Amino acid sequence: MTASPDQIAALEAELTALLGERGVTTELRGREKASLDGAKMSPILAEQLPLGLADIVAFPANAEQIAQTVAAAVRHGVSVTPRGKGTGNYGQAIPLEGGLVLDMSKARAVVEVGDGYLVAEAGTPMVVIEQAAREAGQQILMYPSTAQSSIGGFLSGGSGGTGSIKHGSNMSGDYVLALDVVYASPDAQLVHLEGADAQPYVHTYGTAGIIARATIALEPMQEWVGFYASFPSFADATSVIRQIGWLEPTPRLVSADLPRIADALPDDPAIPKGRASLRAILDPATIEAASALVEGAGGRVEDVREGPQATVKISMLSYNHPIEWLQKSTDETYFHVEVSGPALVERLDEVHQVYPGAMLHIEAQRDHPIGMLAAPYVSAEEVYAGYDRLTAIGVRFHSPHQWFVDHEVERTKALAATTDPEGLLNPGKIPLNETVPTGVKWA
Ligand SMILES: Cc1cc2nc3c(=O)[nH]c(=O)nc-3n(C[C@H](O)[C@H](O)[C@H](O)COP(=O)(O)OP(=O)(O)OC[C@H]3O[C@@H](n4cnc5c(N)ncnc54)[C@H](O)[C@@H]3O)c2cc1C
Repeated sequence: MTASPDQIAALEAELTALLGERGVTTELRGREKASLDGAKMSPILAEQLPLGLADIVAFPANAEQIAQTVAAAVRHGVSVTPRGKGTGNYGQAIPLEGGLVLDMSKARAVVEVGDGYLVAEAGTPMVVIEQAAREAGQQILMYPSTAQSSIGGFLSGGSGGTGSIKHGSNMSGDYVLALDVVYASPDAQLVHLEGADAQPYVHTYGTAGIIARATIALEPMQEWVGFYASFPSFADATSVIRQIGWLEPTPRLVSADLPRIADALPDDPAIPKGRASLRAILDPATIEAASALVEGAGGRVEDVREGPQATVKISMLSYNHPIEWLQKSTDETYFHVEVSGPALVERLDEVHQVYPGAMLHIEAQRDHPIGMLAAPYVSAEEVYAGYDRLTAIGVRFHSPHQWFVDHEVERTKALAATTDPEGLLNPGKIPLNETVPTGVKWA
C-alpha cells in the first residue's frame, strides 16, 4: 500500500512541527540514502536494487519522539520502515513500499548503566554501549562485527558476533532484559516489556513493533587480548578452531579464513600473505594453551596485542567482514551463504566442493562452528541448487539473498496482526507465500 503525495505532505507538516526542520526530509538524496542497506553484498539482491524508495525520512531524537513519529505516520496511513545504521545485509531495512523511513541515528543516548544492565535508545551505536559499560567496570555480552551499528538494528536484524561463543545469539533470551516498543497505532506510546514478553520483538525487523529503547544485560568486565596466528593450510587452522573456542575462560571470538580470503584483508604483518589466518579475542590466561594448540597443529603465533582497540579490530574482521573484503579485492562477483554445523570442520573438502571455487570463513561457537561460504557468482539458480548439496552433507544454511523474517515467523505474524493490524510496519518483510529458500538463522 503506497501513500499518496497528499498523505506524505500532511505527514511532513506534522513531523516538521514535532521534530523541527532538520528532523525530517523529503529531499531525494536523503530519501535515497535512507533506502539502501548492505544488500549489495548479495549479487542476487544487488540485481534487484533499488528495491524501494522512501517518500519521507524522519530523525526522532529520543524514544518518546520515536513513538510520536510512528503515531503520526499511522494517523496519516503511511508505512514505517525503521532504520538503524543501515548495515543489515539482506535488504531488511529497505522500504519496499516507500512511505516513511524512521532513521534512529539521532536517538543515541545511553540512558542508564546499572549493575548488570544498561539502558540505551534505539540508535545508540554498539561501540558506544560497550564503552559506557566498560567505564562502569562491565561489558556487554555480545556485539556484531559491524560495531558501529545500532542496538535497535542489532536486536531487530542481527544475531550474534563477538561474545557469541559464550552467549549464543541475541535471540537466546539472556541478552535482552527489557524493551520499550511502539505499536502501529494512531495514539502510539512506549510500551515497556520485560523478559520473555520482550523476546518476540527480537530479530523480527520491526514488523511487530518498533524498538525505541532497550535494556540489555551486562557482565563483569574482562581483560582481553587480540591473538593472531597463521597456518600453512586452512585445514590446519580448522583442526584447532573448536578447541581454541572451548578454552576457559571462554574466548570472545575465534575466526579463521582460507589464505585467499585472508590475503584480501587489510595489510597486517600478523596476517601473512599466502597463509591461513586465525584471529581470536582471548582472556590472557588462555594465551599459553592457545599457542600450544596452534603450534601443535603446525601453525605459528604471529602477535598478541593488548587494549580495547586491538580487540575491536579483530571483531571488525569477523563474520561477514572477510567476505566484504574479498568482494572489494576483485572484479569477480562473489556471493556467500551463511552455514553452520560440525561438517564445516569434519567435511571441509566436501563443503568446498558445493560450489566451484568455494572458500570458507569460519567462526568458533560453543556447540558447532558457523561460517560464510563464498564462491564466484554464476546465477541465483546455482546458488539455490547448492543449498540442497549443503543439506545433504549435514551443513545447515541461512540464505542472505532474501529479506523475509526468518525467526519465529508464525509467532511474528500472529503478534503483528494485533500490534500492526493495518500492516504498516516494515511492510513486505513477513513472508506470505515463501517463494525463495530462507534456511535457518544460526541454527
Ligand atoms: C560486513 C558486514 C558484517 C556483519 N556482521 C554481522 C555480525 O557479526 N553479526 C550480526 O548479527 N550481523 C552482522 N551484520 C549484519 C548487520 O550489520 C548487523 O546485524 C547490525 O547490527 C544491524 O544494525 P543496523 O543498525 O545497521 O540495522 P539496520 O540495517 O538499520 O536494520 C536492521 C533491521 O532492523 C530493523 N530495525 C532497525 N532499527 C530498528 C528498531 N529500532 N526497531 C525495530 N526494527 C529496527 C530494520 O528495519 C531492519 O529490518 C553484518 C553486515 C555486514 C554488511
